[in-house]
Amino acid sequence: MKFELTREQEQIKKAAHQLAEKEFPKYARDADQSEEWPRDLFDTVADQNFIAVTIPQEYGGPGLGNLENAIIMEQFSRVDGGLGVAMGATAFGSELLYKAGTEEQKETWLPKLASGDAISGAAISEANAGSDVASAKCSAEKDGDEWVLDGQKYWITNATIADFLVVLAQTDPEAEDRHDRHSVFLVETDREGVSSSKITGKLGIRASPTAEVILDNVRVPEENLVGERGMGFRYVMRFFNQTRIMVAAQGVGIAQGALDRSIAYAGQREQFGQAIANFQAIQFKLAEMETRIESARLLTHKAAWQADHGEPDASASSKAKWFAGETAVDCADEAVQIHGGSGYVDEMDVERFYRDAKITEIYEGTKEIHKLIIARDLLGMT
Ligand SMILES: Cc1cc2nc3c(=O)[nH]c(=O)nc-3n(C[C@H](O)[C@H](O)[C@H](O)COP(=O)(O)OP(=O)(O)OC[C@H]3O[C@@H](n4cnc5c(N)ncnc54)[C@H](O)[C@@H]3O)c2cc1C
Repeated sequence: MKFELTREQEQIKKAAHQLAEKEFPKYARDADQSEEWPRDLFDTVADQNFIAVTIPQEYGGPGLGNLENAIIMEQFSRVDGGLGVAMGATAFGSELLYKAGTEEQKETWLPKLASGDAISGAAISEANAGSDVASAKCSAEKDGDEWVLDGQKYWITNATIADFLVVLAQTDPEAEDRHDRHSVFLVETDREGVSSSKITGKLGIRASPTAEVILDNVRVPEENLVGERGMGFRYVMRFFNQTRIMVAAQGVGIAQGALDRSIAYAGQREQFGQAIANFQAIQFKLAEMETRIESARLLTHKAAWQADHGEPDASASSKAKWFAGETAVDCADEAVQIHGGSGYVDEMDVERFYRDAKITEIYEGTKEIHKLIIARDLLGMT
């Protein structure tokens, strides 16, 4: 068993870290305060080929694996958790398109995502359908050789900047098994009847745009159906098994960033005539943070490795996502504690880390849902 990254992976890690260290601090605080997605930064990140990195070479991408993607997401989020997802998830939904889409859909969109000429999102959740994805009500009815989509999606990352969304809609409400009722459609955002409005006032990851999407009698041709009719729920679950590994990597990055800043602060802050790093209470916090982060990183890399060597494993992804999310929240909390009063104001990065960390326990399945997935696997209930 080898625990080292390959030389190429080390180089990717170093380059991603250098890019984030050089560029992200210029935008992090402003983007957090203004809740604006920084397009200039996106152009820089795209120029350096650090977007949509898993798009295969045949479609114009670098064709990196999930492990390399996780390494990049960690390094980005280590500098800023909001910019990590704002830059690292601009092709969200492309994973589903790549696995289930038609050749024409892939040839049209994947090269544009890889070059930074297009942005995508995945519209699955609704105001009343979050953890219970199969209860999504947005409908799609066949009319000749077109489909007509109607409904509302909520919490959709990138919707206000996206060129297209992959949308989960009910095509077969009468199907006996509720998991056979949905299909996925590729919906270009400039189609008549598509509108989105930004959700403001988020606790964290404010650089990442989140929106409500209204689909008002939106007509798409039959060619926009992604994969097979009735398979939507299953495609989405498989998609999440892959993409939630990136949320785990975001959590590891936020936790590592919190630790980096805590070590630096503990070494320079003096109380009782000495650096607070000399106090065992502080040392224990640092030791616990480091150990949790290493555990979370190992789970994340293992889940990514599994996804790169076959199918993503649902239980492995859930273990990584739950544990890394909890680690991000714990470590950001301890980082604020180590910074004392200074950690409580936005002059210090750890205040933002504390707010950014929480989302990693919520989106792409809450931690409770991940524990259910792990338990069902243990009990043979899947
Ligand atoms: C910033 C942000 C970005 C997002 N981006 C996207 C996106 O791009 N695309 C998209 O489709 N969605 C997106 N989401 C939605 C996200 O995936 C959901 O918020 C998440 O899945 C939880 O659903 P919910 O908010 O409806 O909570 P609920 O499902 O209502 O859950 C509320 C609470 O009940 C618990 N709970 C629910 N069911 C169970 C159960 N069976 N057993 C035990 N506990 C349970 C949950 O764990 C949680 O604690 C985003 C959300 C946010 C906040």
